[in-house]
Amino acid sequence: MPRETLDALMAQAATLLHRAGTDSPRLCARALAEAATGLDRVGLVLAGTREVPPETARHYAELVQRRAQGEPLAHILGRREFFGLDFAVTPQTLIPRPETELLVELALECMTLQEARLPHAALSFADWGTGSGCIGIALAVNRPRWKGLLLDIAPAALQVAGRNARHHACHERLALVCADMARPPLPPASLDLMVSNPPYIADSEVGDVMTEVLRFEPHGALFSPENGLRHLQQMAVAARRHLKAGGWLLLEHGWKQGPHVRRLLLDAGLDSVSTRRDLAGHERCTLGRLPLCGTG
Ligand code: GLN
Repeated sequence: MPRETLDALMAQAATLLHRAGTDSPRLCARALAEAATGLDRVGLVLAGTREVPPETARHYAELVQRRAQGEPLAHILGRREFFGLDFAVTPQTLIPRPETELLVELALECMTLQEARLPHAALSFADWGTGSGCIGIALAVNRPRWKGLLLDIAPAALQVAGRNARHHACHERLALVCADMARPPLPPASLDLMVSNPPYIADSEVGDVMTEVLRFEPHGALFSPENGLRHLQQMAVAARRHLKAGGWLLLEHGWKQGPHVRRLLLDAGLDSVSTRRDLAGHERCTLGRLPLCGTG
């Protein structure tokens, strides 16, 4: 069989992925070619007209086939970029989503406020349901004054979070805690900030979830009982108990859940409650603060 050039193989892969209904087939074909050849983006351009050794061509075809059958790109590559950082992901962790970057941006703003208010204090945060650790690690990397807890109920997820924390050299400021959101083993009034992207999809919405997500991502990270609100409510209750006065709670939630989450935060005694929209214009993150004087 004549050997094909890398450009030709990538064009065939893009056509195959397009026919399989894959999102962004050309980008996918390129990312998989990087994985199969070990070349970076520049290397791929420079090697485009070279013939590909049969072994590499076979490996590339296997990766493309997996993607065409619906396996997420992040699982095939074992990694996903989030907030400009590279994260290892496995089928045991939710794949970091671009809309979650809004939660990180808002948390960083709240951390800046806390640093200004408490210039000499030791500051600590918790990322609840950390999964790959993407939120907590992005915070730790960008705010070196802070220490953090990464909590998850799944030991397999915490292993991935630990790997990511070491990769980003912030593991010494982070502690991994295996815990249920309903019963966190933390002292009261101990945190300056709590952040979470909890499971928030209602079981009744299963029909709206992409097949690829349902087939390959952990359902425990996606679905929450009580119309998708149980974990969000647990977070509001935990915030009242575990935040210090003046501490912030930030939650990601579904685009229809804004009014419910604002109510949960107000019922828990938080103030300055507001919701921000994501780039698609959907209500996506709600935040609130435990009042400085009393707990209202
Ligand atoms: N915190 C992780 C993320 O945002 C995992 C969230 C989850 O498992 N629901 O990707």
